[in-house]
Amino acid sequence: MQLQQPIFSAGGIYKRYSSLLEKLGITTFQDFLYHFPHRYEDFSQIKIISALENGETVTVRGTVLSIKNSYTRFHKTLQKAMITDGTGTIEIMWFNQPFLTKNIKTNDEIVLSGQIQVTGNKISMTSPEYEIISTHNPDTIHTGRLVPVYPETRGVSSKWLRRQIFKLLKENKFTLTDSLPAEIKQQYNFPQLYDALQQIHFPQSYTEVEQAKQRLAFDELFYLQLKALHRKQMWKQRKLTTAFKIDNYKTQIDTMIRSLPFPLTNAQKRELNSIFADLTSDQPMNRLLQGDVGSGKTIVAALTMYMAILNDKQAVIMAPTEILAEQHYKSLSKLFTPLGINVDIITGSTKKIKNKTLSKANNEDKNNKTGPNILVGTHALLYNKADFPNAGVVVIDEQHRFGVEQRALMREKGNNPHVLTMTATPIPRTMALTVYADLDVSYLDEMPFGRKPIKTWLVPSEKRQGAYEWIAKQIGETASQAFIICPFIEESENMQTVKAASVEFERLRKEVFPQLKLGILHGKMKAKEKDDILMQFKNRLFDILVATPVVEVGIDIPNATIIVIEASERFGLSQLHQLRGRVGRGDKQSYCLLFAETKNDQTFTRLKAMETTNSGAKLAELDLQIRGSGDLYGTMQSGYKLLKIASFSDKDLLTKARTAAKTIYSKINDYPLLIEQLLELNEQKISQD
Ligand code: ADP
Ligand code: MG
Repeated sequence: MQLQQPIFSAGGIYKRYSSLLEKLGITTFQDFLYHFPHRYEDFSQIKIISALENGETVTVRGTVLSIKNSYTRFHKTLQKAMITDGTGTIEIMWFNQPFLTKNIKTNDEIVLSGQIQVTGNKISMTSPEYEIISTHNPDTIHTGRLVPVYPETRGVSSKWLRRQIFKLLKENKFTLTDSLPAEIKQQYNFPQLYDALQQIHFPQSYTEVEQAKQRLAFDELFYLQLKALHRKQMWKQRKLTTAFKIDNYKTQIDTMIRSLPFPLTNAQKRELNSIFADLTSDQPMNRLLQGDVGSGKTIVAALTMYMAILNDKQAVIMAPTEILAEQHYKSLSKLFTPLGINVDIITGSTKKIKNKTLSKANNEDKNNKTGPNILVGTHALLYNKADFPNAGVVVIDEQHRFGVEQRALMREKGNNPHVLTMTATPIPRTMALTVYADLDVSYLDEMPFGRKPIKTWLVPSEKRQGAYEWIAKQIGETASQAFIICPFIEESENMQTVKAASVEFERLRKEVFPQLKLGILHGKMKAKEKDDILMQFKNRLFDILVATPVVEVGIDIPNATIIVIEASERFGLSQLHQLRGRVGRGDKQSYCLLFAETKNDQTFTRLKAMETTNSGAKLAELDLQIRGSGDLYGTMQSGYKLLKIASFSDKDLLTKARTAAKTIYSKINDYPLLIEQLLELNEQKISQD
């Protein structure tokens, strides 16, 4: 059998359970084996009945003397059994499980795990885990050991999962290929893959659990890194037709920089130089530009695109929403139209009108004097027939908002263009080195001069009313606007979140700010609707925008100077920082007010960091230390789960995996099993970038 075989295709019980299992993310037998326990029930202490003490959680083994059903009031049933092990007897009770008298018979050998009650001379256990032992079923998996407890779903209990996983491991009908090189296993004293799986599901001790976890976590980080190295290698094989000339165009670039209404920050200059250095190579650039919201990534991208145009190439920039695309279109037009450079846009709504220019761009003469020099767009760029064979530079803004395939597709549409991806979500260094090992990473670690840091306050609940009054006063006096971000309820926005937001909206509108105009924005709205609301807000048609947290408000609304974040403890610091970045984009002083629903020392310290730290990179690092990477980066790439068991906060293991991957990749031809996996990667196109 193949590990990759879909569960449903195996028929029988597998087929029947396949849709339930899918809810747990289990679709193949491999997923099944990699469905790890999130904790263990410690039933490893086995005692004789005469030695049992009140309150302890133990396992006893004995023979069933009797078992029977009895009826209590209200048609409830009670199952009572007596068990002996020669040193004493114990009474067992279960409730409302009449089928037990069919499963458990007098004289059966039974193992029971649970909590002991001793009253007077009577020893008993209520609702213990139990297991019948026989010669063909000698192992206990639910009792008498460290018992794995799994993430469950309705209809799929830990008990059921335990039995199935035990069976899969025991029968071992799959070709489980352990492709981690033997030398690495030896170096770090890792168990074999099969043993590690056996140990994480059915450990003999917590030490075994730890060993297994180390091995399996190492695997994850090692393969991530190996794949990144491979992608880097593949990227290196791409060749540009011609390398860019940079020096010839220094004057033009300098003139443009001097014509800007502001001086570039040192960070912008530095990273622009790195980019220009990349552009002179005949190997296409593959660079990620990270920088907090407002750090000025757009102008860096614009100058990069300008260099492409000076080199007689086109430039394409893709943004995740129409409104962002419009924004880029406007600012790029302002910058370039006076120079006779033609900027055009293609989005879902402009598609029809602009197709003409695009097809021209497609059939252009070699120097492309007819088509647009700069093309701005949304996803519509991808799903249009037109390619951009003359694109010298492709920019992908807010890259994390695009799927892996979309980014790959964008690249394919150009003819080996230089690629600049940008993100405002800074990733801690240790993590970037692993996940983005194939990219060159730039960081704009400096805000434009004169930008006022956003004043941030963690507001105690007794000051809520006062805060509302202050907001109303601010809006009245400075004619500024505010965001109010509703509590974060679920990862993906569901109706519950929307409903909660609507209720909050009504309350704020009627009771708190009756004199102001309020609007609402949530994730269940259509893209067009969202854009309209944002446009109205930008045009000051209302004073306060109430929004659900998953709605990304990536656009520039310089007149918004206040942001209120409800239940802020439910966010990671990076997320809070992202949200906070919605304000502070103009020259007025901006404010961020954090409310929290639960208060403990850890929450307090964490949120207090928001008051003192304005750097996204620092906050991301801090977040990783405090909360670990699980919730933060676990689902970084459009919901694609990156890590199951490893954590990016485990620096030690990260370093080990990185070193190992480098060593192994340098002699990859010696490892046919690994090559096979990397080839699969090419086919599946699951490459990160
Ligand atoms: P982001 O990095 O979030 O994409 P933008 O590129 O949109 O940020 O820049 C935010 C604002 O800052 C824009 O209005 C832009 O014109 C301005 N800006 C960019 N660089 C500088 C600078 N060096 N000095 C002053 N303002 C700048
Ligand atoms: Mg931006």
